Amino acid sequence: MGTRVTLWSRLAAGCLGRAPAGEAGAGDFWKYRPPTTPAGFQQFMACAADGSDFARVTWQTCAQCRLGLVVQIRVNPKRRGAGYGTRLMLRAMRGCEAYTWTTTVQSAEFGRPFFRALSKSTGAAFTAKANLCEHMAIEPRPEGPAQREEPPPRAPRRWPHWRR
Ligand SMILES: [Zn+2]
Repeated sequence: MGTRVTLWSRLAAGCLGRAPAGEAGAGDFWKYRPPTTPAGFQQFMACAADGSDFARVTWQTCAQCRLGLVVQIRVNPKRRGAGYGTRLMLRAMRGCEAYTWTTTVQSAEFGRPFFRALSKSTGAAFTAKANLCEHMAIEPRPEGPAQREEPPPRAPRRWPHWRR
């Protein structure tokens, strides 16, 4: 149990920043764009009151092959340190936590440290080598229209370690 606390502390202090958690702006809201094919692109984003998104993840999952792929994740540098990246990923992985998760190329500045820490917390590999099955590769695969969603959970105090 102590280990989990340590891992979480490291995650919080490392890639998510030591700055006081960035205050949620008044009027912030969350949006989801569902896939238009069973294994197509999905998107989840955090938006400011003016409607512009400041944190966004694009991903694909295939229920048949039990694969998840993070196509892109980004958090506006001004909003880093407040756990938005983790919350995006908790939403993306919801119901698919035990899938085999990979990512596209990870940026050295954000992606690599972020996924390294998230991998420790969740037990998902997040290997930086996209693993696409035939269902995920079907073109075109645009996201559907955006719809508002309830805010996703914050990082749990104790991670479930889905694959351990
Ligand atoms: Zn598949």
